[in-house]
Amino acid sequence: MSDRLLRFLEVPRRDPEKLAVEQRLVSYREIYSSYDATGAAEQASRCLDCGNPYCEWKCPVHNYIPGWLKLIEQGRLFEAAELSHRTNSLPEICGRICPQDRLCEGACTLNDGLGAVSIGSIEKYITDEALKAGWRPDMSHVRPTGRRVAVIGAGPAGLGCADVLARNGVTPVVFDRHPRIGGLLTFGIPPFKLEKEVVERRRELLEGMGVQFELGTEVGRNVAVGRLLDEFDAVFLGLGADRSVRGGFPGEDLPGVHPALPYLTANINRQLGVEQDSSAFIDLRDKHVVVLGGGDTAMDCNRTALRQGAASVTCTYRRDELHMPGSRRDFRSSQEEGVRFAFNVQPVEIIGRDRVEGVRTLATQSTIGRGTRGRAVTETVAGTDEVISADAVIIAFGFTPNPPSWLENLGVEVHENGRVRMSGAGARPFQTTNPRIFAGGDMVRGADLVVTAVFEGREAARGILHSLGVRATQ
Ligand code: FAD
Ligand code: SF4
Repeated sequence: MSDRLLRFLEVPRRDPEKLAVEQRLVSYREIYSSYDATGAAEQASRCLDCGNPYCEWKCPVHNYIPGWLKLIEQGRLFEAAELSHRTNSLPEICGRICPQDRLCEGACTLNDGLGAVSIGSIEKYITDEALKAGWRPDMSHVRPTGRRVAVIGAGPAGLGCADVLARNGVTPVVFDRHPRIGGLLTFGIPPFKLEKEVVERRRELLEGMGVQFELGTEVGRNVAVGRLLDEFDAVFLGLGADRSVRGGFPGEDLPGVHPALPYLTANINRQLGVEQDSSAFIDLRDKHVVVLGGGDTAMDCNRTALRQGAASVTCTYRRDELHMPGSRRDFRSSQEEGVRFAFNVQPVEIIGRDRVEGVRTLATQSTIGRGTRGRAVTETVAGTDEVISADAVIIAFGFTPNPPSWLENLGVEVHENGRVRMSGAGARPFQTTNPRIFAGGDMVRGADLVVTAVFEGREAARGILHSLGVRATQ
């Protein structure tokens, strides 16, 4: 075996420094620092350059991971940035918030006890440092086609779509009802995971590439979608999925019970200084808080409540730790910061006379039995009632799409669960049942991840280019 292939034995995985818990809890800043050039090159050198890189396959945008790791090992930062942007429209953001343990790093050959290559942190390093050093996407070969596409939604799906369109000479005009770009990147995900300056920097970059933004503009209210169809060559829908899933148990409407997203958004609005209605802000200082759910949103609520000065935070999840859908990294951070987890617990009622006083729960057990097709079924166990006392409860059971009524008038069909139906035309990925309208991201696949939304936005852009007769060159 060559020396290079044994590097991982000499160089252990080393993640960027993490802020001490006491510092984290008094700030909303990101908790991870970055590599310097030597650290990034050293960590990149651990890559085995497998013939068949599983990391690439598992990454939803199929990043050329071993390719840019090698460039970083050799100190070729700008080439790494260019290569990284060939497959990903938001690499510095995915590097920060993808659940890498389930995706690229989970598939790394070294993950088997030796410590996966720290792919996410290196991806973040590449764009952050290249931008600081003056790199900008190479648009020198782009020839304008004179075509224009209306992109509705400036979340990851809309931005992914706009990026690919601009790189192929089509002008995207991105409409969003919010005053800033990013969708949930800005108004859902807390700054301790993703500082908002990172999203603003991406806006400048996209504008530099020719992407136009019409912010503070809700389609269907401030501008008619029919007008967009008249004025543009095609329309892309990236409206996300923001309808909160309810628990369906008694007490959910008691004062002191809050759905997760309005809680997080109001807190971010205050942090950003863009709060329009101060009564929307929910202050959990000195409160005993119970968060229901085990996904990314629940982890973000846990950690926001602690930063607001909650007296205690308990997070309940109906299955065990192993089956939690949220990222391991954020689960560990929640634990370090002081969240108490109650696993195998199902909330069945929120109790209280005039306002919330606690959550009544039953224990659960998961079994694989006859008729379950090998899948574990989680059931409550009778007689295991307990009450967790609480001054505030946050419900984080996930989100479903919330399709606007105007879709129907356009002939855009949706499934019963609200997800937009695709027409199934192979060469035009993500085309809806109206041939001039494409869609992608959470409104098509249901609430998922930033990286899958980026992928679908990019693929939809290729479908749009095909429908306009524009040959995609990147
Ligand atoms: P969105 O990001 O929701 O963007 C949709 C945009 O459309 C919004 O800006 C909205 O204002 C706009 N819009 C809607 N209707 C209109 C209209 N009529 N006119 C104009 N604009 C409109 N994923 C990860 O990968 N890692 C994480 O750590 C992570 N954490 C998360 C934490 C929270 C709290 C939440 C809620 C989600 C998290 N996710 C995470 C999921 C991720 O944020 C989403 O999957 C992703 O943002 C979906 O992208 P999208 O573009 O489809 O939709
Ligand atoms: Fe990994 Fe996400 Fe980057 Fe793909 S986009 S390499 S899954 S961090």
